[in-house]
Amino acid sequence: MKRRHFFFYHVVIFIIAQIAWLSLIGLWIYWYVYNYIVYKEVGDHVSPEISFDITNAGPFVIGLVLLVGLSLITIWIFRHLNVQLRLTKLYDTFISNVTHELKSPLSSIQLSLETLKTRDVPREKQKEFVGMMIKDVNRLTRLINSILQIPALEQKKFAYSYQIYSAGSVIKQILNDSIEQFRLPLETVNIEENAICEFVIDIDGLKTVFDNLIDNAVKYSLQPVKINVNISCTTQKVVIEFNDNGIGIAPKELKKVFNKFHRVYHQNIPNVKGTGLGLYQVKEIIKNHGGKIYIFSEGDGKGTTFKIELPIYQVFKKRFLTNLLKRSEQKKQLEIINE
Ligand code: ADP
Repeated sequence: MKRRHFFFYHVVIFIIAQIAWLSLIGLWIYWYVYNYIVYKEVGDHVSPEISFDITNAGPFVIGLVLLVGLSLITIWIFRHLNVQLRLTKLYDTFISNVTHELKSPLSSIQLSLETLKTRDVPREKQKEFVGMMIKDVNRLTRLINSILQIPALEQKKFAYSYQIYSAGSVIKQILNDSIEQFRLPLETVNIEENAICEFVIDIDGLKTVFDNLIDNAVKYSLQPVKINVNISCTTQKVVIEFNDNGIGIAPKELKKVFNKFHRVYHQNIPNVKGTGLGLYQVKEIIKNHGGKIYIFSEGDGKGTTFKIELPIYQVFKKRFLTNLLKRSEQKKQLEIINE
């Protein structure tokens, strides 16, 4: 209801603005034509040989400039209102998505705990309940971490703990940890690795990346999920291709999925919940590592592939040292100015 009011309010402003500036144009045309006729009549009487006086063009030019100015201001106001409207809409959706994402694992944990407390559950079933609760707690932790991490990532204030690792083996290890955490059967993920090079990463950061990709692969799939990961090295970068057999993404949506809060509506699974933060967080982490991420999908039902490129150690070192040098140069210059 509130949003309806908001929308109605903008439509009314739009109509008033249009009426205002159309009236102004009308007035100006009337004023200009009227004066022109009067001047021309007077001019014809006084000195008929002067048919056109250049000073007559003055009001016309001023009016034109005013009109252009007015149009620009109207465009600016409406762009601003449009952005506001979109932000409010995004905010509303985000709050309702986050509320759901927080409530549903909590209710599930509560139900499991109550069952364990009130019933005599066999040992095997107890294990199953505990497993489910761990999964829900992990989900909650991931959600809360992502909400807390995003401002720090955006402002480049996130405290990474970078270390040098051998690319192939560490990515494999992170993937296996994620598979265990998501309680997926081992054969779900097939890893092909031929990456004998080193890179510099924050292991928790990269774990968040793969947690998000695996979580999405499971969520956006109608059949038992199958993931293929290929890890290789070139002379400059480590290349990771992460492919799933899920529902895929329509080509026109591909560019937008990395945007903050952006979610795609899938007709086949309309009830999948999320916040639209996962891939945005992934992109920010990869960017902060000096890397790039691309997405490919041939469309609905054709699966999705993410390609991640991270600089190898030598490239990272060079970039890191250049940045360090630049910063110390800037510091020196500031010191000289302050002296
Ligand atoms: P969330 O999953 O919380 O909606 P994400 O940022 O992780 O947010 O993903 C954004 C959108 O991209 C999702 O809403 C989903 O439609 C689409 N998407 C992401 N990963 C996949 C995937 N593996 N297969 C199909 N669609 C995906």
